[in-house]
Amino acid sequence: MQIITDPGQMQAIAEKLRLNRQLIGVVMTMGALHEGHLSLVKLARKSAGTVILTIFVNPRQFGPTEDLLRYPRPFEQDVALAKSAGVDYLFSPEAGSIYPEHFQTTLECGTLAARFEGEQRPGHFNGVVTVVTKLFNITKPHTAIFGEKDAQQLAVIRQLIADLNMDISIVAAPIVREENGLAVSSRNIYLSSQERSAAGIIYQGICHAEKRIAEHENNLQTIVKEVKEMISSTPGFHPAYVSFVDDTTFQPAETADAGKEYRLLLAVHVGKVRLIDNGKIRT
Ligand code: AMP
Repeated sequence: MQIITDPGQMQAIAEKLRLNRQLIGVVMTMGALHEGHLSLVKLARKSAGTVILTIFVNPRQFGPTEDLLRYPRPFEQDVALAKSAGVDYLFSPEAGSIYPEHFQTTLECGTLAARFEGEQRPGHFNGVVTVVTKLFNITKPHTAIFGEKDAQQLAVIRQLIADLNMDISIVAAPIVREENGLAVSSRNIYLSSQERSAAGIIYQGICHAEKRIAEHENNLQTIVKEVKEMISSTPGFHPAYVSFVDDTTFQPAETADAGKEYRLLLAVHVGKVRLIDNGKIRT
């Protein structure tokens, strides 16, 4: 595995790979690699001969009150994990080479990014699509793998690809969970061991919603209320939002129509940590 930090060098390597008819798969992360990230690498391996993993803690997707400075950066550990997962190139640039002094061009998302994460983290998705576009231009992938864990981000990126005619196929990776159902996340290390085991309640909420839909409860507000109650009754857990959306438009949904796909989106504050999760629910 080769470690590259210079965007120009990465771009030259990617161009050469393309000229040699190699299929490039990219997995973009902020590091602190875990089973979730490694499952994306595995999927990338299936669709591409060369896998590039990017590690970049993108300052532009963090709000002023968020955890940019204390975001975990266990680089040596990440290198070992990436190597053992079969990554070919690890691209890990410095912030200054991605956003040099005179950088001034950014992208702006539309309505898909307005609610939920976009509403609670102003500027977040503009920062995401700007860096994702830069990383696409640097790594020149045929395929890019993103996790369903960040379902709204995945929808925003699919929209970016369509809106800007990018010739890249997106593969969605299923959510990897801990034994109690908590979605694996780099931020889980901030939870106390008590909070971490209690956090299974979020997944239980998703399963409860699935069960209620299977029982033909079509009032989605009723189900949301039940899920919120389940979570709030766990000491220290405070839902920021729990909402059903249409799975393609991300527009909030109030009633379940037969034969449609919805997604239950959740964000929950646990002490200083904010956890997000979601589940796709078919009627
Ligand atoms: P992050 O480093 O948190 O920005 O995540 C990088 C990529 O890994 C994103 O596409 C995430 O959706 C994906 N990811 C993070 N956690 C998980 C998980 N538990 N299961 C599947 N994919 C994940």
